Amino acid sequence: MEAAPCQTSSVKGLEHGTREKEHSTVTRKVPRDVQMDIEYLYEVVPQLSRVFRITDKIGEGTFSSVYLGEAQITSGEREKFALKHLIPTSHPVRIAAELQCLTVAGGKENVMGVTYCFRKDHHVVIVMPYVEHQAFVDIVGTLSYEEVRQYIYHLLKALKHIHKFGIIHRDIKPTNFLYNRRENKYALVDFGLAQGTPDTQIQLLKELLGLSKTSRSVFGERNLNSINHAKNPSDKIEGHLVKPSKADDISARKLASTKRRAVPSRGPAASQKPKSAALNPPLTCNCYMSDRICNICLSRKQQVAPRAGTPGFRAPEVLTKCPNQGTAIDMWSAGVILLSLLSGRYPFFKASDDLVALTQIMTIRGSRETMQAAGKFGKAVMCSRELPRLDLRILCETLRGVRPCGEDSLPAEFRASRHPADAKQDLTDPAATQSSQSRTDTSKSTGRLQDRGWDSVPDDMYDLLDKLLDLNPETRITADEALQHPVFKDLSDE
Ligand code: ADP
Ligand code: MG
Ligand code: ZN
Repeated sequence: MEAAPCQTSSVKGLEHGTREKEHSTVTRKVPRDVQMDIEYLYEVVPQLSRVFRITDKIGEGTFSSVYLGEAQITSGEREKFALKHLIPTSHPVRIAAELQCLTVAGGKENVMGVTYCFRKDHHVVIVMPYVEHQAFVDIVGTLSYEEVRQYIYHLLKALKHIHKFGIIHRDIKPTNFLYNRRENKYALVDFGLAQGTPDTQIQLLKELLGLSKTSRSVFGERNLNSINHAKNPSDKIEGHLVKPSKADDISARKLASTKRRAVPSRGPAASQKPKSAALNPPLTCNCYMSDRICNICLSRKQQVAPRAGTPGFRAPEVLTKCPNQGTAIDMWSAGVILLSLLSGRYPFFKASDDLVALTQIMTIRGSRETMQAAGKFGKAVMCSRELPRLDLRILCETLRGVRPCGEDSLPAEFRASRHPADAKQDLTDPAATQSSQSRTDTSKSTGRLQDRGWDSVPDDMYDLLDKLLDLNPETRITADEALQHPVFKDLSDE
């Protein structure tokens, strides 16, 4: 098959360079395995070498590897791009849908756009503008209250925008929302899991809906949990207050790695290298980038890689496998991010599976409340112990160290996790001082809790958090409503 760029995207400003040879002398500093991955990418999608000098790998997941590439644009300047190499076993319609989300909804309102797309056989590379960003885990404890307010505002803007198109992202979490603190830039990425609402404007998401209704799991979205709990009747979920034990963790990881190994895989280079024709049939189907699904695709074997959001960010209706899931599931995930931002604790819910995640939700939002809400969406949740609903302000302030940890203010698991060393670090916080040189407000750069605004968070912010973490998707606040919340009064016309 001839190398062909995807038809939907147009290349603007990209100029064929003369870097044909250059790439073989990939930057010396990158580790050997990354170098090999880069060589491999040039090998399977050779046309990349005419445009890009690929210098590093910046992201690595089960479903893609993301590289940093430089291209000379028409003006003569060099520009950075993110090159997302999708795992070649992804279903063509899944890939095309991800691309369509980016092309139709992206490029504005804090949603990542797409510059170009390369394809050679079953290898697809999505080219996007590069957004420099910091790892959330490194900065979550150092942000000022105002930065947190801005962050959540910009995330809500992105959500409002994609929800308008009938896109449910389904994997809202900090690694999919790129944040450049210095330049106040934000970008929602990764539509690899997105689904359409029944009236979605993204044609290919409709296609996906249609496909999944035929009950052929062509996308392999069956996840570990549905295997682990296959014996549970799907509409009856029991939660026990159990900490994820080591054994649970290990068995989950074992399962995960067994499954991962089933994909032709090892490291990314190897993982994307077809081992045998049987595992990786050449893509000779007729439906690629068209609006139909061909017979070849309909008869594809179920794929092994599980693809589902992260348990700790899943809404209660997702955890209980409620069939009617809408854009409200993204709002819940935004609420979990806000919970991290306000408490300075990340990840907030460290759950290895759906049951543990549900139990952790109950410890915060109350077991009775959770059972009641589940009843409203037709699920029976049981809990062996009554867990009281916590006050969100007390919870966040205690974890952050603004509020002394009273004996009765928090359940034991939270008291234990608030280590005295954390408190000390919060108060001095060298990272906060370090990374705020560019800001003019000097009070922010001292890094002390009071000066970062953490001693005077308005009730409105906790009201918003409460509305995002509404257990009932029917009444949970929408992105549009959230942007009009009083806490953003002064930002609404931005
Ligand atoms: P996956 O489906 O494998 O999770 P993502 O699209 O989420 O792939 O990308 C993985 C990681 O690559 C992101 O978490 C981010 O760190 C990095 N990345 C993705 N797109 C960009 C981009 N446009 N600019 C900078 N980094 C990016
Ligand atoms: Mg991702
Ligand atoms: Zn096809």
